[in-house]
Amino acid sequence: MNFNDFNLHPCIMEGVNALGYTEPTPIQSKAIPVALQGNDIVGLAQTGTGKTAAFVLPILQKLMPGKRGQVRALIMSPTRELAEQTCTAINKLGKKTGIRSIAVYGGVSISQQVINLRNCAEIVVACPGRLLDHIWRGTVDLSHIEILVIDEADRMLDMGFLPNIKSILDCIMQKHQTLLFSATMPKEIRRLTEDILTQPLNIQIGETAPAETVSHALYPVKQHLKTALLMEILYQIQKESVIVFTRTKHRAEKVADELKKAGFKAASLHGNLSQIRRQSAIDGLRRGSIKVLVATDIASRGIDILSITHVINYDIPECADDYTHRIGRTGRINNNGDAWTLVTAADTGMIRDIEKILKSTIERKTIQGFDYTIAAPVGERVRYERKPARSDAQTSRQSAGRELRNKMFNNRRPAIAKAI
Ligand code: ADP
Ligand code: MG
Repeated sequence: MNFNDFNLHPCIMEGVNALGYTEPTPIQSKAIPVALQGNDIVGLAQTGTGKTAAFVLPILQKLMPGKRGQVRALIMSPTRELAEQTCTAINKLGKKTGIRSIAVYGGVSISQQVINLRNCAEIVVACPGRLLDHIWRGTVDLSHIEILVIDEADRMLDMGFLPNIKSILDCIMQKHQTLLFSATMPKEIRRLTEDILTQPLNIQIGETAPAETVSHALYPVKQHLKTALLMEILYQIQKESVIVFTRTKHRAEKVADELKKAGFKAASLHGNLSQIRRQSAIDGLRRGSIKVLVATDIASRGIDILSITHVINYDIPECADDYTHRIGRTGRINNNGDAWTLVTAADTGMIRDIEKILKSTIERKTIQGFDYTIAAPVGERVRYERKPARSDAQTSRQSAGRELRNKMFNNRRPAIAKAI
């Protein structure tokens, strides 16, 4: 199949060509013609397989004729960063169409959004909370919505978001087309989609499993050695772009802090940060000025940065689907990636769940030269600084790392043990 087969408007094809897309991906081949016919869709395809264009191209085609200056398409997004990214994709694909999009999310001033929403956009990409704010203030008019997309649909319909999504859907009274996309869809959430969709077409590419472009490994380690092991790993994969996932905001901040002190170009990304810091962390990773982003699951959905070579789970995710989304930040489109998970004895059950969706055992690995026998520090956390490692030889970098760890663990003072 070829993009010309979709009979898209020449202005839209200019955007497709400008992005260098030559062939539609499988989800695009299947979903675009069905969406263009006006059907509701549940589209499932693995992470990094072009789902965004699978809904953006039909939206642009649908909006080419008809009135401008009113909101005619709404895309729901679980995170602010994903909303921004989707807007950027629309602006690139729709560059020559004159169709405008805006991202609407919390954590930033509402007044500029109010101005932009007034006659300035045909597509709104929104996080539910802030969109509801606009609805209540009367600063967004959803009465012209023709097409609604719920991206990362299973997350948007889970308990956290569902009440807000329902309130928003209640405000769209007129007949409209609805498209749901995700890489995963638990059964209980799929049941909910029946209330939202009208005779939907289910399009599923492959299995809802982790992307095949990613290789997996487990690194068994004691909890107190996780940061030291992470550093050793990072020394060994220097120059690469890495996302490290932690389970809590506090830990993301702490680990990023320790990495920065040890000389890594690291930043944190979690819900306690200002939006300016969140966006600058993700932009830094995109540009390459940040090499290690330590994030909570806030970064696990949708983020598309092709240079990410490794996902490292500092903490194992809470469920197997979260694993699929986290590791899907690497190995996108035609790239390969590595997904490494630091595991402790407590993670056995979750490892089993992950191996079940992978339908194979994940290789257990150790890092050569790393001292796994260091005892847990019985005391106040010792702050340490990495001596500037010589950049010319990896061996000297590794020995600098070992020296640091020794310093860290030998300098312990007796007191009550603290969790990392
Ligand atoms: P998903 O939503 O499925 O995780 P994205 O829509 O974020 O994936 O797309 C992943 C990457 O693939 C993006 O960088 C996007 O620009 C690129 N891409 C999408 N469609 C194509 C295509 N047909 N050919 C080449 N690259 C594509
Ligand atoms: Mg996506």
